Amino acid sequence: MKTDLPKRIVIVGGGFAGVTLAQRLERLLPAQMEIIVLSDANHLVFTPMLPEVVGRTISPLHVVVAGRQLTRRTQWLEARVSRIDRENNEAHYVRRDGTTASIHYAHLALACGSTANLAEIPGLASRGYALKTVTDAIVMGNDLIGNFEAAATEPEREARQRLLTVVVIGGGFSGVEVAGHIADLMRAIHRFYPELKNETPRVVLLHKGKHLLPELHHESLSSFTLHKLRQNGIKVQLQTTAQKATSVAVHLSSGERIETGMIVCTVGTETPPLIKSLGLPLEKGRLKTDPDMKVKGTTNLWTLGDCSLVPNAYDGRPCPATAQFAMQQARQLAENLKCASRDVATKPFSFRSRGMLASIGHRNAVAVIYGVKFSGFFAWFLWRGIYLAKLPTLSRKLEVAISWACSIPFPPNIVQLGQSKQQPAKAGSDWAEAQSIKTKHHHEYQT
Ligand SMILES: Cc1cc2nc3c(=O)[nH]c(=O)nc-3n(C[C@H](O)[C@H](O)[C@H](O)COP(=O)(O)OP(=O)(O)OC[C@H]3O[C@@H](n4cnc5c(N)ncnc54)[C@H](O)[C@@H]3O)c2cc1C
Repeated sequence: MKTDLPKRIVIVGGGFAGVTLAQRLERLLPAQMEIIVLSDANHLVFTPMLPEVVGRTISPLHVVVAGRQLTRRTQWLEARVSRIDRENNEAHYVRRDGTTASIHYAHLALACGSTANLAEIPGLASRGYALKTVTDAIVMGNDLIGNFEAAATEPEREARQRLLTVVVIGGGFSGVEVAGHIADLMRAIHRFYPELKNETPRVVLLHKGKHLLPELHHESLSSFTLHKLRQNGIKVQLQTTAQKATSVAVHLSSGERIETGMIVCTVGTETPPLIKSLGLPLEKGRLKTDPDMKVKGTTNLWTLGDCSLVPNAYDGRPCPATAQFAMQQARQLAENLKCASRDVATKPFSFRSRGMLASIGHRNAVAVIYGVKFSGFFAWFLWRGIYLAKLPTLSRKLEVAISWACSIPFPPNIVQLGQSKQQPAKAGSDWAEAQSIKTKHHHEYQT
């Protein structure tokens, strides 16, 4: 049995949940209690603004903040936690250079989020674009411009049109937002490509349900979103699923095939490997917890944010995987950890959602705030005000506000820094499909 071990709280993951938890614990716990964040990224990503990064309205560095600049006395270790030894209360981690180490904890909070899973649609894993990290947003925007450059030098009309077609899979929040921002970007940059003046850049949004933004539970806002997206030139296909992806097309459940130069997928999440490795009860891929966020069947293991399934005492339902809930859980968990360290009873998590907002492009948004619905330009203005206020640090707020102001008179930056997503291998069925399209078009031109 180990003795003289420091009273230490270890947090795995430095996203919304992990950072907020560390910040709260700093205020609530006595100085002799150590707080350590182990995260495989040195920064928090402000995900609500990622679609704006894709749309080149703001710079990628505006939506990330280094964790150690958000906390005071927390020790921030950039490392990937590979294993939890629950018997000895130790977290094992891998450093940047591949060496390993372990750290002892009195309490461990798992805030690992979730990862994108493109593998649910055959062929998508190697060709699809996810939107979860800041790198995803940079790569997507970069390759979109790259497709315009490629189309400008492409002699065949059909191939040009394919390169200028983006398919977005998923009509939830991220899908609708990214489709809107991509459509805005494509429209704004089209005039810089006189070679493409006879082509029409296209965005196709595929959604398997009857209504867009089902998370809002408001049919009128879903209909408004559909109307505005279509007005913005986006082709929305409801009750449609993608069955297969190749490097040149998406094959739909209807049998239709859409030729495309970019497939963005905003559906499908995966349980982080660390969470899977615990061997503890999962539901919908998330760790099940007691009402106070303690992992079921454990004494000093807690979880919050997207990797957890926390019951909400307010409405008796499991919490949704949103930043709003992750941060609120962090505030409550800090209180509970304070209680646990003093052997006082903890409290169940209870929170009434403040609402939801989605920016759908072309200066439009939809929102439900404390049950009141907003849509159109006013909702978009509200979206910008609320998220600017939520964005951490004054310097980021100023950077974003200045970028927004600049985006009114100036066009988006169309610098392309090299094709970043792996190109399809010149072998196998994809390559054959690409060639058959080329050959077909070639014959069409000759006849
Ligand atoms: C495009 C997009 C837009 C969104 N918009 C909104 C919105 O408008 N409003 C809203 O409320 N929510 C929104 N969300 C959802 C929101 O981003 C998530 O709910 C939120 O990020 C969850 O916070 P988290 O701390 O649980 O996970 P994350 O923020 O994902 O953080 C998890 C952290 O853990 C780290 N990690 C994972 N495994 C390990 C490991 N083994 N070792 C060390 N570190 C590890 C990760 O690198 C990451 O830093 C959006 C999400 C996306 C993708």
